[in-house]
Amino acid sequence: MHYKNITEKISLIKENKISLVENVKDFLNRIEQRKNLNAFNFVFGDEALQLAEIIEQKIKSGNHGKLAGSVIAIKDVLSYKNHPLTCSSKILSNFTSVYTATAVQKLIDEDAIIIGKTNCDEFAMGSSNENSAFGPVLNPIDESRVPGGSSGGSAVAVAADLCDASLGTDTGGSIRQPAAFCGIYGLKPTYGRVSRFGLTAFASSFDTIGPFAKNVEDLCLILDVISGKDENDSTSVDFSEVKLQAQNIEAKKIKIGYPKEYFAEGLDSEIKEKIFSLINSLKNAGFNVSEISLPMTEYNIAAYYILTTAEASSNLARYDGARYGYRSKNSDTLEEMYVNSRTEGFGAEVKRRIMLGTYVLSSGYYDAYYRKAQKVRRLIKEDFDKAFSNVDIILTPTTPTVAFKLGEKSNDPLQMYLSDIYTTSSNLAGIPGLNIPISRNTEGLPIGLQLLANQFDELRLLQVSYYIQKNIL
Ligand code: GLN
Repeated sequence: MHYKNITEKISLIKENKISLVENVKDFLNRIEQRKNLNAFNFVFGDEALQLAEIIEQKIKSGNHGKLAGSVIAIKDVLSYKNHPLTCSSKILSNFTSVYTATAVQKLIDEDAIIIGKTNCDEFAMGSSNENSAFGPVLNPIDESRVPGGSSGGSAVAVAADLCDASLGTDTGGSIRQPAAFCGIYGLKPTYGRVSRFGLTAFASSFDTIGPFAKNVEDLCLILDVISGKDENDSTSVDFSEVKLQAQNIEAKKIKIGYPKEYFAEGLDSEIKEKIFSLINSLKNAGFNVSEISLPMTEYNIAAYYILTTAEASSNLARYDGARYGYRSKNSDTLEEMYVNSRTEGFGAEVKRRIMLGTYVLSSGYYDAYYRKAQKVRRLIKEDFDKAFSNVDIILTPTTPTVAFKLGEKSNDPLQMYLSDIYTTSSNLAGIPGLNIPISRNTEGLPIGLQLLANQFDELRLLQVSYYIQKNIL
């Protein structure tokens, strides 16, 4: 069954050229065949098939939503009423959601079919999807390699053709980096465009929800559906529709900057070469592309890992074994119950972050670490403000290397953290960014391009991306 994007799929169903029920069966078969990838924590096969019948009828009667019949997987940090929510953690192993995340509800309201919940790093902490109580996810392009993280399962579900699209979350790169490693599109929206209600909090001032897809049209369609003000998230804002009209784009009027700090030491030479060749194609197409500077770049990782661990240490305090989730059985006192539940329930990386975060917030260190990092965050944001007064779009590699081997960095947290060098800045600044799969290296591994735009400028970001997808790749 071939269709270009979700919109075309709906037309083909309407014209009787595709059966939605058969399409869902195909996806379920593929999920079974590629079980070894470990992309899904839970698959809702029967529900999906039942919905397929109902939605197929809706499409034929012309009375259907914008995402009718699209088959979408959601990261297992998003609440979906009466379905399990584990965050790939033992501490939530027996937890069932009592409400549905706004972003997920909006998909359902537009007649999407939720096919399952995807594996991820525990509580979305990681860059390789190796920190999961369900075990690692494999990269479908080379199964000896990681798919990236933390939304590794969501990326693999799309890359291995186990669904049409998926939702992931991005606190420091968790949508863009796995999209780059798996060779697909992934969009991190502006902080506030998509409600976080029902997203299990990791670092609340950084967390965002966004789509993975096989093309820019689907990214745009899904973003349009999930955006908007929500009474249940006071940081959400109202924004008008995002509709692609890339044919109207005037290349000459768009200014693109590439920050020299993102092409320095540590960047894989093949990635660098491919990105510069794309820059040349953009210049030939009439875009105004020039080198810019983001001088605060070297502080991204430090600021990110101080602030997000601080927020995480506070957010994860709720998992105490008393209110919900896993409770240790062998405790005599209340305090022992807390300690044992958390010791047994959390994995090593989550514990490391809780300790780091507690440390940077502790009296005596608060000023030296947490407060200082807040100030640096402001300077990083100002770097971007300055850059966006001169250019419309910033272009960088998404990652310094292609997908690395399973186990390669799992014993070296600092190396793992450093791999987030190009993605954390946009979460510090709250701006939108996306990954475009532009090429493969000599080993056949995907290479990703990152485009960033100013706050709430997703439309231009998507239009330039659509132009690249259509005319350059
Ligand atoms: N890799 C980053 C981290 O480990 C980003 C995670 C994310 O975006 N959820 O924190």
